[in-house]
Parts: sequence; C-alpha cells; structure tokens
Amino acid sequence: MPKLTVHRGARQIGGCVTELRTSTTRIVIDMGSPLPGPEGTAPETALSLSGVTTPGEPCDGVFFTHNHGDHIGQIGCILPEVPLFLGETAQDVALTLYHRLARHDVEGCAPILAALERANTFHPGVPLTVGDLRITPLLVDHSAFDAYMFLIEGEGLRILHTGDFRNHGPRGKALYPVLRRYVGQVDWLICEGTTLSRSPHPIMTERALGRRAQTIIQKHRHVFVLCSSTNIDRIAVFTHSTPRSRPVVCDGYQKEILNRVELRNGDKSPFYRFDRVIPYSSRNRKLLNWMADQGFLMFVRANDRFRQRMESYRNDCVVLYSMWSGYLDGPCANPDLAQFLDGFPVIRLHTSGHAEHATLREVCRILQPRRGIIPIHGDQPEVFRSLAPSCRVTCFKDGEMLTL
Ligand SMILES: [Zn+2]
Ligand SMILES: [Zn+2]
Repeated sequence: MPKLTVHRGARQIGGCVTELRTSTTRIVIDMGSPLPGPEGTAPETALSLSGVTTPGEPCDGVFFTHNHGDHIGQIGCILPEVPLFLGETAQDVALTLYHRLARHDVEGCAPILAALERANTFHPGVPLTVGDLRITPLLVDHSAFDAYMFLIEGEGLRILHTGDFRNHGPRGKALYPVLRRYVGQVDWLICEGTTLSRSPHPIMTERALGRRAQTIIQKHRHVFVLCSSTNIDRIAVFTHSTPRSRPVVCDGYQKEILNRVELRNGDKSPFYRFDRVIPYSSRNRKLLNWMADQGFLMFVRANDRFRQRMESYRNDCVVLYSMWSGYLDGPCANPDLAQFLDGFPVIRLHTSGHAEHATLREVCRILQPRRGIIPIHGDQPEVFRSLAPSCRVTCFKDGEMLTL
C-alpha cells in the first residue's frame, strides 16, 4: 500500500512538502519555504530530505502544484539528479521573478534559477507516468497563475492532492465540472485548509472585487495598485476595470511577466491579453501626455523608485492595497510596507486565493473520499471534520508516515 508523509505543512499554512511512495516509486509534491514569521523574520526554512536534498534513497520526481514561494521556495535545495515537474507558464513566471531578484542581489537565487531551468513541464489533463504512478495535473483557480491539483493513481488507489485552490476567481467555475468529469470518487483527498481557521462566511469573488475597483477608479484620476507581481488574475481584473480612455502603466519587469503569460494564454482568453498595459518611461512623451490628460492606473511595488514617482500625486491619488492584510497589520506586518504607504490615502481591496468553507465542503461531497481526508496547508486541520462529517479526517503531525 502507498505510504504518505507530510514532511511539512500538516499543521501550518505554507512550507508544504508531501511525499508519496509505493513499493517501487517515490515522489514528492511541493518543496516550499515557510511563510515569513512575525516582524518579517525568516523561520527555519531548510528541510533536509534524504534522497531529495541529501544523498539517499532515490526520488523519482518532485511535482510542483504552483510557483508560490511556500510551495517552490526550496526548489534550489533539490539534488540535480532528481527530476522536477511544473506548469509551463508557472515556470516562465518564476524564472522572470527570480532573474529579477538575482539582479537585486537577493541571496539564494542562483540554485533556484538553475533548478527552474532544468525542470520538466507538464500540461493540463495530460497524465505523466513515473514508476508505477500515473499523475494527472488538473488546472485550478488560485492566486498563482498556472496552478494544479494532482490526481495520483497507483497500487489500486486514487488520490487527489489539491495544492492551493479556490473557486471564486476567474477560472473558478470550472472546478466542480473538472472534479466530476476527470476525478470522480477518490480513495484519499489531500486537501488544503488555509481558511479553516478563518471566518466560514463567503469570500468576495474576483468579479465582485473588479466591480468595486471600477467604482474607485471612476472616482479617482490617479490610482496606484500595490499587488503581487505574479497575481496575474488580480492584475487582469484591475486592468479590465480601467476605462480604455485611461492608460494602465507598470514597470518593465511587470510587463515582462505579463508578456510571458500572454504568450502562452492570450489566444485562449482575452482576459489574459495585456497589450494595453504600458511600461512606464520618462522618455515616452506620448504616454506622459496621456497620463496628464486622462489620469492613470499604475501597478507599483514598495520601493524608493515608485515612492518618488508617486510623491507628486500624494494629494490627488488613491493607493489600492491588494494583498494579504497581514503584511500591514498584526504580528507578521512588514514595517517597510507601512513606511512605503505612509501619508498616502489607502483603500484595501483584496480577496483570498484559497477555497472558502462551502467550497471545501462541496469538493468533499463530489469526491466522496472512500478512505479519508488529509488536511494540509492549514493551522486548524480539525475543523475539516465539521465540513465533511461522513468522511474520516486524518490530522497528523509533520514527519509522521501514514499507510494509505
Ligand atoms: Zn500556499
Ligand atoms: Zn499558493
């Protein structure tokens, strides 16, 4: 029978590392770094795994659900002989991000870039065979673009690993049909539970967020947006919420990310076409005149260059803060961010990248896990029991092994 070990992430959000082994095959899903702790402190990140990060029993592959740091952050620690797998656009976006970080002399980028370069890519719905396991990546809606669930079949069992997901974003309506059509009943459901410790109330959809953005953009001529450069859906929502008469502006790095996404996805959906997003240049007279005439929406990042650019609009602008509120308030707040926003009128406009309680409940109802549910990526996994009372919910500790 296959054996499962959640090396990290059994009782915390992020830093996920899950291992599955059969009698002949050993795979790992995600190799993430824990999320930053209080005051931006970096918690212990190095997870040593024999055969994966240090010589030992061979590993047949590490599969990445998506490119958020809490799932991919330790990719650079993986031994070069271990095959790596991730989505094509996820790879492109991560390469662009880490090349930029490397240019800014951020430590540890070189091994991450080398690992990303050598990674194999997979395609939605196309199964891969690794040893005696068949792994089918299923595209899901999440705040990282090109995110996947994995349906893993082997030794007579069907297991679904959800990665991070939601159904309140632009691709969300596909979730239930995909699960019904391509997955059906499973033996085990390894499911993210980020929101288990949060309110059970419905979460604002990206569509509703777009409507709010539209109202704000109509009211203010100069709109700055602070959101993750890799939250493509959010960038698309803000872009499409801006009237055509107004320029949407970003910097060269952000434009490069958007170009990468558009190249592989723009022909599938106009939502992922970003031709109207213009890289800012102080030499582009036409753009500067347009911005002066019509106002603008500008994607910014918390650094001195953007702060200087924003300074002259201080009394006639709004900053849309579109990231997790915990970076601004509470024990994990980042003081640099508060300083960057100091003195500017800020409107918070954000929604979660994770499934709300009702979605988790419906996923369990569709999949009817025969043997049980294993919650990961959540700090209160026990709450899952109230969402799926007819299923066995197995909560365990990091490093514990379970025979499936
Ligand atoms: Zn995550
Ligand atoms: Zn994520």
